[in-house]
Amino acid sequence: MTNLPTDVKQPLSLIYLDANATTQVLPQAAAAALATMETFFGNPSSSHITGLQAQQIMAKTRQQAKQIVGAGEGEIIFTSGATEGIQTAILSALIAAKKTLDITAIKSKKYCLLYGATEHKAVPESLKHWNEILDINAEVTAIPVDKMGRLDMDFIAKQVPNALMICTMAVNNETGVYQDLNLLDKTIRANNANIAWMVDCVQALGKQDLNLAQTSIDYAPFSGHKLYAPKGIGFIYIKDNAPFTPVIAGGGQEGGLRSGTENLPGLAALSVIFDMLMGESEHSFTPVKSLHLFHQQIVATLIQAFPNIVFNHSFENSVPTTINFAIPGFSSKEMMDLFDAANVRVSSGSACSSKVTRSFVLDAMGLPSWQSESAIRMSFGPAMTQELVDQTCERIVSAAQALQQSCLTIDTNAMDSKVITDNKALEGLVQFKVGGSCSWLYVDHKTKSAFVIDPLPEVAERLQTMLTCHGLKLVAVIDSHGHADHVSCRASIAKTCLAEQKTDALGWPDNTPTTNINGNEYQYLTLGDKWLLKVATPGHTEDSISLLLCEPVTDSSDKLVVLYAFCGDLILMNSLGRTNFDTSSAPAMFTSLQLLNTLIGTESLICPSHDYNNEFTTSIGAEISRNSLLHKVINDEINSNFFSIQKYTMDKGIIDESGSVIMCGALIGAGDKVSVREYDSASLTEAMKKSSTIKLIDIREAHEYALQHDEKFTYNVPLTRLVQFVQEHQDDKQVPLVLICRSGSRSHLAAQALGRLGFEQVGHLTGGYAFHQY
Ligand code: PLP
Repeated sequence: MTNLPTDVKQPLSLIYLDANATTQVLPQAAAAALATMETFFGNPSSSHITGLQAQQIMAKTRQQAKQIVGAGEGEIIFTSGATEGIQTAILSALIAAKKTLDITAIKSKKYCLLYGATEHKAVPESLKHWNEILDINAEVTAIPVDKMGRLDMDFIAKQVPNALMICTMAVNNETGVYQDLNLLDKTIRANNANIAWMVDCVQALGKQDLNLAQTSIDYAPFSGHKLYAPKGIGFIYIKDNAPFTPVIAGGGQEGGLRSGTENLPGLAALSVIFDMLMGESEHSFTPVKSLHLFHQQIVATLIQAFPNIVFNHSFENSVPTTINFAIPGFSSKEMMDLFDAANVRVSSGSACSSKVTRSFVLDAMGLPSWQSESAIRMSFGPAMTQELVDQTCERIVSAAQALQQSCLTIDTNAMDSKVITDNKALEGLVQFKVGGSCSWLYVDHKTKSAFVIDPLPEVAERLQTMLTCHGLKLVAVIDSHGHADHVSCRASIAKTCLAEQKTDALGWPDNTPTTNINGNEYQYLTLGDKWLLKVATPGHTEDSISLLLCEPVTDSSDKLVVLYAFCGDLILMNSLGRTNFDTSSAPAMFTSLQLLNTLIGTESLICPSHDYNNEFTTSIGAEISRNSLLHKVINDEINSNFFSIQKYTMDKGIIDESGSVIMCGALIGAGDKVSVREYDSASLTEAMKKSSTIKLIDIREAHEYALQHDEKFTYNVPLTRLVQFVQEHQDDKQVPLVLICRSGSRSHLAAQALGRLGFEQVGHLTGGYAFHQY
């Protein structure tokens, strides 16, 4: 991060709302930690004065911890954090339980280890780990939760007699939902008086009063970095007489319960935080009553900014410092990008599957799938201030306005006037991607008309919002074929946005004019000064068509000038559409490929219905350089029979059974990796000194760009408009380009796509804005 550019606009200050993940170390805590590194750096095991000073810091912190959690006669052992505390609890409980196991009961799988379904992953993973290592072979069983995230007490009552351990949490890290510890205590003990019970108290510290010794909780792990102390320090409460086995043996520190030289800087910082919690510091935390008011203010602003917001938990049984919500129509990733651009740090669902980010906590609560995939968590701690809350609210409002200005949401209050300002003008092609599938919107700005191709249900709402917000008239909504892998939402869009239009089964309007090209008649639609030509290209399915956006044909012998070929699943990036459906025909595909080639040539851009590898667009020219089968078809090197045999073999490679996704074409190899130039801030500054023609392009979406960008990045080409950019620069591929995005991943994808399509000097800024200050 050296040599950062200096001629940049005043950056928006950072608002950090991800306290449940970790917190900034408070200056007074950092100062205490520093003092133990520079001055009171002794080893608490040493008996000289420097060692005694260290011991004193440790003893004070332990005393404070005991008081804050109400440890009574229980022990406090310092650890590296909560994950270590969780190991300590589980190992101790399971080693003790193992001594009492009955061999026949083990064999009949009688025993179980219980944990709450919304527990932090550290809990079930550690249970599984030690269950296996200690050869206990118990069932590791999740306790279900209800819609409000509360543990199922009946389930516990039924299962706990056979359990060797039960692990629950005080406050959930994703939702802030808290459990009724008294009720849990009663339920557990009424059914199993001796079972070891661990309560993960990480997210409760500083947000809830704890009185652990008055409960039957055996173990309670805590973590410093969730409450303004540094990472690497935590502690665990152990009830008097609870079984204990050290996880770490060695020099006998912590009375032999946890060896290893103590983390004195961490302890000193923790002590400062404890002073604040106990009101024994000149610095104070915000009282819980005010935290509730902050919560109310942020929630009210969110509702005002995003009127259709849905909250993912009940505030009735949640701490006020966590707000988890979803905005219909926006994925977690999109909202994260939006808030990051507004310089507000929030987080999304915690688990990552191959396709989408989703939250296993919200899944366990039985929330609808979209809420889990769109979850956003805002979390703060007791150091939150009124000033920061006010700034947060302003930032939420400007983020919502940025979405409205790029027509991704509609300001319902301003609906009557429907002001379409010039900066909202939309012209040309927009690509929407959902997983590996694509929908396309093409807009003619002059006539304010548009058509949509292959509309996916997931983008229906967004498409309709854009059409309304831009004041566009929909001319047609057409599917390139009957899709096998997903349901089209063509009919519903047509119903809301098209007046009584009579069409064929794919949505092509009746009674369109025809034109003659090379002796063949083709139907076409007019959109501004362009035509959309319909060409039957069966093969993948019998009904497959290609739609060619082209210049009007004035003479049947003219070469067709095609801007975009929407060819469905005929040619896919690094693949051909599969031909092993009931209505498929490989010989028909052979003919369709040759026909398409004569109509569009090798350079026109192909916009297929799938993009499995994030390549955005392609051309016959780009494909024949890596797809030898297509190369042979186009160059007349094989006949239809040979093609069909090859195609049969290729399609056998498609694995349908991979979840619910049906691949529409077998990928040929892994896709070629185009090497692109990687810049950091220093090398970019250097390159710009050498060349005045470098074009700096921010490829984030328009609303992200509007919220904040580096002034040097004068061009904004969102990924959804990349294909249009390629089309506009077909004759200008020598221009040096450097792309930037939030983290460097979108810019890398886009740079690779451009490189593959013949752009000669394309690079991107590694790490994106995350490593390149505004
Ligand atoms: N338990 C909960 C509820 C947490 O939120 C976390 C941290 O995310 C942990 C355990 C793990 O804590 P640590 O990072 O101190 O190991």
